[in-house]
Amino acid sequence: MSTRTGICNFCGTGCGHLLKVDNGVARGVFASPDHPVSQGRLCVRGWHIHELLSTRDRILAPMVRRNGRLEPVSYDEAIAAAADGLSRWSGDEIAFLASPRSSNEDNYCLARLARTVFRTPNIGLASDQGHGDAADVLLEGAGFPAMLGALTEIRKAKLILVVGGDIAKLNPIVGSEIHRAARRGAELVTLSGRLTQIAKLSGRHLWFKPGTLRHSLAALAKVLVERGWHDASFLRDRAEGFDDFARYLAGLDLAALAAASGLEPAAIEDLARSLAQAPTAMAFFTSGIAGLDRPSVALLFDLFLAAGKIGREGCGVNPVAGICNIVGSYDVGASPRFLAGCRRAEGPAAGRTPRELLAADPTPLKAMMVVDRDEEIVRHAAKLKALECLVYVGAYGNPFVEFAHVVIPSATCAEADGTYTNTERRIQLSRKKIEPPPGVRPAWRICADVAARRGASWPGASAEDVMREIAAAVPAYGAVTYAGLEKGFGLQWPVDAGHPAGTVRFDAAAAPRRLRFVPAGADLGVAAVSKDFPFLLMAGKANYFWHRNNVMKKTQIPKREYNALLLLYPRGFVELAASDAKALGVRDRAPVNVIAEGGSMRVAVRISGDVKPGTAFVPYFIEDMVPGFLNAAGAAIDEDQESAIPVRIEKV
Ligand code: SF4
Repeated sequence: MSTRTGICNFCGTGCGHLLKVDNGVARGVFASPDHPVSQGRLCVRGWHIHELLSTRDRILAPMVRRNGRLEPVSYDEAIAAAADGLSRWSGDEIAFLASPRSSNEDNYCLARLARTVFRTPNIGLASDQGHGDAADVLLEGAGFPAMLGALTEIRKAKLILVVGGDIAKLNPIVGSEIHRAARRGAELVTLSGRLTQIAKLSGRHLWFKPGTLRHSLAALAKVLVERGWHDASFLRDRAEGFDDFARYLAGLDLAALAAASGLEPAAIEDLARSLAQAPTAMAFFTSGIAGLDRPSVALLFDLFLAAGKIGREGCGVNPVAGICNIVGSYDVGASPRFLAGCRRAEGPAAGRTPRELLAADPTPLKAMMVVDRDEEIVRHAAKLKALECLVYVGAYGNPFVEFAHVVIPSATCAEADGTYTNTERRIQLSRKKIEPPPGVRPAWRICADVAARRGASWPGASAEDVMREIAAAVPAYGAVTYAGLEKGFGLQWPVDAGHPAGTVRFDAAAAPRRLRFVPAGADLGVAAVSKDFPFLLMAGKANYFWHRNNVMKKTQIPKREYNALLLLYPRGFVELAASDAKALGVRDRAPVNVIAEGGSMRVAVRISGDVKPGTAFVPYFIEDMVPGFLNAAGAAIDEDQESAIPVRIEKV
């Protein structure tokens, strides 16, 4: 039995672990006591990652579909079938679906394959919202497209504002660090539309009406600026655009904002004052699929900028990535709106995500290459089945295999060298710890072989060679080397000639340009209930599952928790307040129809104190909700986890 250093690659926290390997099989995991982020902790998912790594549900052989059946073929035949099948299509007929779980090397090569070999800009994660919006705002506002602070600096914040999704459940070690800071004396405030776990741990919870996060943030900013509590000297020295922001706020009606959000004006005023008076303050929000939308991130950034809480120690606006390598995926260009280095893709270089193309009716898509992903299946199964060429590259059994024309097995994160960039921009090297099954290669190698079949010659025979290319293409990775990463627990970008040891946090005083207020847009929008649709429905992530999370289902303890929930609510659930359930005449677990304009679903009631009367919540992982309901109402949900859809709920 040997013990190898590694990182947990479930969520974006990037905790350090020690993997126990026996005879080439992962048998267990310990928390790494010295890792700067996790400091000897793992959450329940992290403690069971060895079960995923030793699952028997692996794809072991390359396969090509012939006469409707997948048949084992040689690796070279599969590469040829993939390259030749994809090459028949161009422009919006073809798209590449990347994974936020894949390494930087894998995603860099997939993006390069899409853009330079198949000449399409349609490369991205399932959704370009969430982290894409956060990166976009932070790039515009600070020139720094990711977390401005650092997880290791949470303890330096005197006020911590958690906005929206439940960080305590989605990124448990980040939630634990925030809770630890609160126990040491920091003030913890949650601003959300639901009573989340982190809200229960907070000293103050501003519980707004679902769908009114923008109103709540705008109200806070308006009070802060119009009471004169903004940090005038900081803004004079470091920022531009304050006058325009103040003019924008002057055009808003505070009473209307408070009424829309349902927040007490006194609570808004108290929080704005606390933010202004706190010597240091940090904001956190989940930024993965259906994180906050662009206007919400812009308002949050502007609020903190006006308060002078950007670019200083213990300060910052911080997106928290839900999946392990979302940040790295954007850094290396696996996005239709960013090229490698988070340079904005303009004109013909700007593309669309596979989800956007699949959602079009009729879809222009004819061919897709998918690496280690599953969610789009549930939304667009019929359209995926109708594709002329679907290439699936992945390590584990996956619903895409059912529709794929070509399947190529790839190595897991433990079977290949690769880097993963966590939510605080920490680029971490994960060395190969286990031999992959015979003939199984890392995804970056498969991309290179597909490129070679199309006549492209990519130099580089190792993941380290790919990192050299990334360092040349991504300025923030300019001085990254495997040897440098291996010396400690990774390096936080920017890692360049000026910052060879990395950068813990964004520093406004050292920034090459002034900070900028980011326009949020005039229309704050609000989902309105009516006689026909009297409830506001939220959808969000659940503790153990995001969507159909193909990865989590393969680890036993989380799977047991999931199954326990499904035993009680086998077709999913909708959380309702007890008073609403009583008014509908339904008990816990009774079936109801949830009806929105354009779609409906049948689920069981789960009576909960976590939603207010008149509001409801469904977790994403309910499969039944997706085809009949989410596609109809999905645009609103995709846009922002804090958005809401008016629905009617009927007893069955
Ligand atoms: S918090 Fe995230 S990275 Fe850490 S152990 Fe849990 S799932 Fe893994």
